[in-house]
Amino acid sequence: MKILFAVSECVPFIKSGGLADVAGALPKELLKLGTEVRVMLPKYGAISEELLKGLNTVKNIEVKVGWRSKYCGIQELIHEGVHYYFIDNEYYFKRSSLYGEVDDGERFAFFSKAVLEVCRALNYQPDIIHCHDWHTAMVPYLLKESYSSEPFYQDMKTVFTIHNLQFQGVFPYSVLGELLNLDDSHFTYEKLEYHDNVNFMKGALSSADAITTVSPTYRNEIQTPYYGEGLDSLLRHRDDSLRGILNGIDSAIYNPAADSLIEQPYSEDTLHYKRRNKLALQKEFGLPQSEEIPLISMVTRLTKQKGLDLMKRVLHEMLDWDVLFIILGSGDREFEDFFRSMEHAYPQKCKAYIGFDEPLAHRIYAGSDMFLMPSQFEPCGLGQLIALRYGSLPIVRETGGLNDTVDPYNEYTGEGNGFSFTNFNAHDMKYTVQYAVELYSQKETWENIVKSAMSKDCSWSASANEYQRLYAELIPGRDIRVL
Ligand code: ADP
Repeated sequence: MKILFAVSECVPFIKSGGLADVAGALPKELLKLGTEVRVMLPKYGAISEELLKGLNTVKNIEVKVGWRSKYCGIQELIHEGVHYYFIDNEYYFKRSSLYGEVDDGERFAFFSKAVLEVCRALNYQPDIIHCHDWHTAMVPYLLKESYSSEPFYQDMKTVFTIHNLQFQGVFPYSVLGELLNLDDSHFTYEKLEYHDNVNFMKGALSSADAITTVSPTYRNEIQTPYYGEGLDSLLRHRDDSLRGILNGIDSAIYNPAADSLIEQPYSEDTLHYKRRNKLALQKEFGLPQSEEIPLISMVTRLTKQKGLDLMKRVLHEMLDWDVLFIILGSGDREFEDFFRSMEHAYPQKCKAYIGFDEPLAHRIYAGSDMFLMPSQFEPCGLGQLIALRYGSLPIVRETGGLNDTVDPYNEYTGEGNGFSFTNFNAHDMKYTVQYAVELYSQKETWENIVKSAMSKDCSWSASANEYQRLYAELIPGRDIRVL
């Protein structure tokens, strides 16, 4: 079975969020199951030269974008057993940011077409093209509407995974003819039209052979108006083809027992070493060095989705308690300013590192007692999974993947691996944090919950098998291995 991943970011090359973690880890797991997976992504200028050592140019082709022909370099690299194709066009991808450019519609229309054209140019026929989020959402659509009449493409199937329904790739009507070479018959309610614009995500949702999203709860949520971001009726219509498959984390990268980025590696059996990470983190941030004061952290994009409105409402009340708070994040100015101002107001208790820093994220996961994720919605969430693995107890809102992965502590049975609250309400969050802070002083109980968190299986193996099963359903008759 041959699977091609088409994706806009991928660890270890380029990452802005969880999508890159998934695109980095899942192919490796599928390879272990014997599936041939290749990954195609843009060759961004920001990818370090070091990681691209050994990159080999295979071919240069031209891709039609409206009436223009655009250069498309095809470069390949085998990295840790995975075959990567980098799509090279410096004009489109040598930019200072990954997304948010005025011509994003053109950049990813080009990339989506390139994915299909490169297959032909290399005479490479994947059984399934697995696309991710709006950046590659036009691949299933173009395959079905423009390419599948050619024998080369007619047997290819598509899977489209929604990592975040909020970002849909909505562009003006003109992209239809000027970029995608599609005529007005595609500008209908059933196809690409969305409030007088063209919606890339809608294209994938209406055309992909199977749709997945990254947790069972989010799968159900997005079929309701509150979470459906305007596409809930289409998702209800595709209910039979829609599956929720939980993300995992790369257990080699996120392994507290062998993490070279943290002060002192530790496991469930050597939990006392975790304390050294806490003391080192406190020292690094100029906070009081104390094992007794609970340390609460966040590592997150600073956007509304992550529940930061709740933090704005009650963080000052929480900082009146004997707690320490560290946040690592970047994003909306409103929240960056808020956390900077809180650091200024509570210099001995609250620290904000505004930026993106992977090694620091590891030190925070290792050094914290509690990890807060009060998201408004959360397709899966990786932060809470990493926190579980590092024994930093997640405090989450019961939504999406947070609901599927964090079992709230039950004081009657002693079961659970974190804490959760139901309503998107600042005081509900505050009371849950308060409960966790109070419990922290009961050392034995706390340690038991930490052990239960660290022993949860957050790896990819179960989910990789589920993807494998889905692929097999789409191409019956193929020999597949499911463990
Ligand atoms: P999303 O994909 O919505 O941003 P996830 O929880 O699924 O949220 O994944 C976020 C990933 O990005 C996690 O691996 C988290 O540790 C990482 N991350 C988020 N912000 C930062 C940051 N400022 N610095 C380092 N890593 C970050």
